Amino acid sequence: MSDISIGIAALTVAVDIAKGLKNAKIGITSSKYKSEISELIDKLLKSKKEMYSMYEEISTKNDEIKKLKEKLEIKSKMVYVGPYYQLENAEGKLEGYYCKVCYISDNLLMPLDKEGESWICGKCNTRCYPSN
Ligand SMILES: [Zn+2]
Repeated sequence: MSDISIGIAALTVAVDIAKGLKNAKIGITSSKYKSEISELIDKLLKSKKEMYSMYEEISTKNDEIKKLKEKLEIKSKMVYVGPYYQLENAEGKLEGYYCKVCYISDNLLMPLDKEGESWICGKCNTRCYPSN
């Protein structure tokens, strides 16, 4: 990521240099020269725009990777205990009651709500009766 930032900064400097050359009062009046400098500025700006796009795409992918890692971390701590899933905490103890239907079908961690002697999922209405 930092290499792209350095590249964008370098292109910004290159564009400024090219603009300086184009506007320089050094007696160069050749229209071909000015045309080539304009083309150079255009190419540098296009490169800079592409680098911004790459930067955004990499940022998006890094966010996706982070979310997937978090899901993987949760998945490694999910334990199926009877009619529901529980989450293993840092001390290795199981806590919470999570809907097996939502977890298996949509990979959602839906906490079950106690309703009388049973537990019910607020999303899919699956009802279960924990043994403990
Ligand atoms: Zn559910």
